[in-house]
Amino acid sequence: MSDAPSSPVRLRSTLAGVPAYAPGKPAEPIEGLTSYKISSNENPYPPLPAVLEAVRAAATDINRYPDMGVTELTAALAERFEVPTTHLATGTGSVAVLAQLMAITCDAGDEVIYAWRSFEAYPIVVALAGATSVQVPLDADFRHDLDAMAAAITDRTRLILVCTPNNPTGPTVGEDELRAFLAKVRQDVLVVIDEAYLEFTTAEDVPDALALYREFPNVAVLRTFSKAYGLAGLRVGYAVAQEEVATALRKAATPFGVSDLAQRAAVTSLDAFDELEVRVKELVTERERVVAGLRDQGWQVPDAQGNFLWLPLGDDAVPFAQACQARGLTVRPFAGDGVRCTIAETEANDRLLGICSEWLASRD
Ligand SMILES: *Cc1c(COP(=O)(O)O)cnc(C)c1O
Repeated sequence: MSDAPSSPVRLRSTLAGVPAYAPGKPAEPIEGLTSYKISSNENPYPPLPAVLEAVRAAATDINRYPDMGVTELTAALAERFEVPTTHLATGTGSVAVLAQLMAITCDAGDEVIYAWRSFEAYPIVVALAGATSVQVPLDADFRHDLDAMAAAITDRTRLILVCTPNNPTGPTVGEDELRAFLAKVRQDVLVVIDEAYLEFTTAEDVPDALALYREFPNVAVLRTFSKAYGLAGLRVGYAVAQEEVATALRKAATPFGVSDLAQRAAVTSLDAFDELEVRVKELVTERERVVAGLRDQGWQVPDAQGNFLWLPLGDDAVPFAQACQARGLTVRPFAGDGVRCTIAETEANDRLLGICSEWLASRD
């Protein structure tokens, strides 16, 4: 490979500014120890039997293109949320819908405002679109600073991303502060409320994003089947937005992107949400246990409203992640900033608590 000629192909200059997505790598196998990957906020539960059966049945038709309109899932979502089907757009994961959102709102040099640190896909999709990221620092509690985000709006602003709960730090934005923020945003700027972890939230003032979409015509709600629904491997997400926006999003989608396997699994999961919700509740109980345990140890853990928690380790982020890796636990470090850990199997959560305790002891 190494002596192959380098390619003379001229690539877009914007690529140089595109950060690479850093997936967690699986932990090295350690003799006598089960390894756990708690770096990608995946759901640790296996698919429900009914979901596996739906996927198996759909597999007999994979010589055919899927239903391009994703009709069945769109109808199911429309019924669930009491919205017209024309207000829905699906994509191959909500990250793909984010790329569609970029495609429909931003010309080169247009600005996209979002909190930072937040979801690592944001700077990637913005840069790939040739748009400009305007990153507004989180406040001291690792929450969105919505006043500063409103102050960052310019004539070039086309899109604002609000991630609630915020990946990777954990807090949600409050309903009142979000409503006050929306009242300040120009109506021609699309505000996306990314609710990838909505089902895990327990805070009292979690915004009703669907109510906000009904109230503010420039609000879009972004959701996914990857986290609470446990379908990360099948890639399906969606947006709820006013008709003009949703229609544009469908235009910008990869044709036939959402497979029939994904569609059948998503529809079956919507029907089985009562069963899935039991699992979500168990993960939330585990989250509360682990966060309380860490705080007892003396860790400063921000409010954790998703299926993950944030350890603000600063320069110790990478060394801490290495210590975890040595114990068969893959966490997600953000160098110089902190470490995100997914709430997973009880054994993985307990191991994390143990490593955190030893880490503090070794620092004394
Ligand atoms: C995981 C996640 C998503 C969902 O990604 P998919 O592409 O749907 O798997 C979207 N937004 C945030 C903030 C996430 O953490």
